[in-house]
Amino acid sequence: MIMGFNINQIRSDFPILQQQVYNKPLIYLDNGATTQKPRVVIDTIRELQEVHNSSIHRGIHYLSEQMTGRYEAARETVRAFLNAASTQEIIFTSGATGSINTVAFSFGEKYVNSGDEILISEMEHHSNIVPWQMLCRRKGAQLKVIPFNDKGELELEKLDELLSERTRIVALTHASNSLGTINPVKEVIKRAHARDIPVLLDGAQMVQHGEVDVRELDCDFYVFSSHKIFGPTGSGVLYGKEAMLEELPPYQGGGDMVDQVTFDETSYNTLPFKFEAGTSNYTGAIGLAAALEYLQSIGFEAIGRYERELSDYTLEKLERIGGLKIYGNAAERISVFSFLLDNIHTYDAAMILDKMGIAVRTGTHCTQPVMDHFGIDGTIRASLVFYNTMEEVDALVQGIQKTIEMLS
Ligand code: PLP
Repeated sequence: MIMGFNINQIRSDFPILQQQVYNKPLIYLDNGATTQKPRVVIDTIRELQEVHNSSIHRGIHYLSEQMTGRYEAARETVRAFLNAASTQEIIFTSGATGSINTVAFSFGEKYVNSGDEILISEMEHHSNIVPWQMLCRRKGAQLKVIPFNDKGELELEKLDELLSERTRIVALTHASNSLGTINPVKEVIKRAHARDIPVLLDGAQMVQHGEVDVRELDCDFYVFSSHKIFGPTGSGVLYGKEAMLEELPPYQGGGDMVDQVTFDETSYNTLPFKFEAGTSNYTGAIGLAAALEYLQSIGFEAIGRYERELSDYTLEKLERIGGLKIYGNAAERISVFSFLLDNIHTYDAAMILDKMGIAVRTGTHCTQPVMDHFGIDGTIRASLVFYNTMEEVDALVQGIQKTIEMLS
């Protein structure tokens, strides 16, 4: 029992969790793909559409000023959540993928040339591989990769030899969406900074599991998606150190990112607007802020403690199932579990679990190189957050055992 953490109350805050599928209570264990929304987020979005909708920053009428105020207040909520130094450092994007593409383009334009190197890791989501690969193709640069060992932990001992005077940036996931590993990002940042190399952290799978302090981490960029932290889809955040963002050219051109436009020349808006071209997804940003305030009201500490208990419980139960192999056994982990069942196709297992009301994911989880590392086609993934329960874990275990009985 964790003080101030009432799991029944929390579950009742999420309308979607109340439903039955195939006449069974829904057990939603696909939170790595997207998280469910608490009522306060749903209500906020509805209220914005019903009462306040108006394009921001450009109008002087009542609705526009109201919405602009809410949008900028949302930026302050995100700033406080990440402990960034200023709201100039918080850019609203379409999601983690949009944020990484922004940095890969803008940073790449300014700092990456032929023969330079970009360092990523073997456990990156495709969203933190492909934009860098595209940059390398454009500029004639080279993509280098920090490998991980069979436990799913980064081979840190290889880092120093991979960092060279040609390395322009390190882009690393804070937590892996397919292995569950939490990476030793502070150590990576320390070693990269010792050589004046900036670091981007992909926090898409981290922010929903624990507090993140970008100043304590000292990362240069931090990205995440709203929909994976109980907010709406199509919205996300790029944090960047102000001095760094000031130096970078904008990614996309269009309204809101400009100061003056003539056919000869355009001058750009100040931060953070320089990176927010077009009509912003203000509903998404304000919905995200509502989700962050909701988490705040429960308390990140209590959420973290509950999740650690849930995670330990899940691991212990899964490890006891004969014929189940877990991929990703790092000492530091989030509550994401990838596994295979002996001689049973992932797709067949997931279909049977689905009929029991249990939603898990199968496939490569957009981390094909992770699957290649182990020589497998994909895994079954159960990913849990703070609204999941030990009883749901028991149901998953029973479901897996039944699946093994049926298909072996
Ligand atoms: N990075 C990681 C680690 C992810 O797990 C994901 C999504 O699964 C992404 C990036 C991309 O997030 P989005 O599709 O919301 O942009």
